[in-house]
Amino acid sequence: MSQSDASPERMFSRACAVLPGGVNSPVRAYRAVGGVPIFAKSATGAFVTSEEGRAYIDYVASWGPMLFGHTPPFVVEALERALRDGTSFGMPTNGESELAELVVQLVPSIELVRFVNSGTEACASAVRLARGATGRRLIVKCAGCYHGAVDSLLARAGSGVATLGMPDSAGVPPGAVADTAVVEFNDENELRDIFEKKGAEIAAFIVEPVPGNMGLVPPRPGYLELARKLTRDAGALLIFDEVMSGFRVAAGGAQELFGITPDLTTLGKIIGGGLPVAAYGGQRDIMRHLAPEGAVYQAGTLSGNPLGMAAGLAMLREIERRRPTLYDLLEKRSDSLARGISEALHAQQIAHVVQRCGSLFTLFFSPISVSNFAEAQKCDTAKFAKFFHTMLDHGVQLPPSQFECCFVSTAHDEDIILSTITAAKSAAEAIA
Ligand SMILES: *Cc1c(COP(=O)(O)O)cnc(C)c1O
Repeated sequence: MSQSDASPERMFSRACAVLPGGVNSPVRAYRAVGGVPIFAKSATGAFVTSEEGRAYIDYVASWGPMLFGHTPPFVVEALERALRDGTSFGMPTNGESELAELVVQLVPSIELVRFVNSGTEACASAVRLARGATGRRLIVKCAGCYHGAVDSLLARAGSGVATLGMPDSAGVPPGAVADTAVVEFNDENELRDIFEKKGAEIAAFIVEPVPGNMGLVPPRPGYLELARKLTRDAGALLIFDEVMSGFRVAAGGAQELFGITPDLTTLGKIIGGGLPVAAYGGQRDIMRHLAPEGAVYQAGTLSGNPLGMAAGLAMLREIERRRPTLYDLLEKRSDSLARGISEALHAQQIAHVVQRCGSLFTLFFSPISVSNFAEAQKCDTAKFAKFFHTMLDHGVQLPPSQFECCFVSTAHDEDIILSTITAAKSAAEAIA
């Protein structure tokens, strides 16, 4: 296919002929908003450029990794250097230790860390480790929290599963979720109840401390503290899935922001700077259950890949270097963006709420604030779809689903934020 006949319809039908639904991850297919997805050709800073050569202000940010915008020079240079030394060895490298040291330094609860290739793999492995370390089976999770496409965790999961309206996935045998209990996020009574009834069987409570996969839903004050207390009292582990919130809401993730120490943490997205890197880690006495030290097996041919480690190191070093002002800057920019969008909608009297934690936010078409999955699902998704497409027409790419977060980066400067707000004003008029 030459450049000139690369219309989105043609590119997408070509993709659909050889890829299920035309994509390699469901939410990219625009099913929730309708229409044909944009094909990316390149991206730099706050902008992504389509195959047809149109530049969009981008709030998808590869779904989270691009904290400093796309293709930051320090990541590109680190990758170029690493590339010349070899793309994979299947042997230990100093790069793995260096990145691990930085993770341990930044994330309060982590003493030992194991690198893997995706957030899905990190969560599946953390759950196996929790079960192996406690000798218990039951996992408690929250409705609307997404922990990757893991069999045992695809019970009322958020993200793409929410977008597609699948309560569960076909192909997950009942046995795989038989030891998974689901509670509503932010519901203290429900959490107390399950620990009262089943506490002695619970291996772990896994939770996104700041859920981003049903749209952004902040924890109610006291909820995470209660989770910490109940798990500790029951001899169960608390797993914070910080694949999205890690290095995003604070250098040390949500656990730093809220001052809560989980037993295990999963990381992804930013930790690989756009390469397929993820990790799970925690206290030494728990992590020691992993092979080759312990009896819980987990392995990966490309785990700790040198290119991934190089990109991750470049990202985390930059975070460390800019740490004193980085998160204040992101907070300030994201706040003015969220306010501007909200004012644009208020001006047209459109029922909505913008929920935000640092540089993560969601515009919900809901008359009331959203505190859990049941409330998120009541949003006006048709209105969202129309808003999304009008923003796109005005050159702003939002995530193509009501149940996702917008990601703000340091590359989203004040001018870009003003342009986004201007687009939001037009979009608000269009849907009023
Ligand atoms: C993205 C995400 C995952 C899954 O990570 P993948 O790299 O897509 O497998 C897991 N948990 C959370 C909280 C996420 O946001």
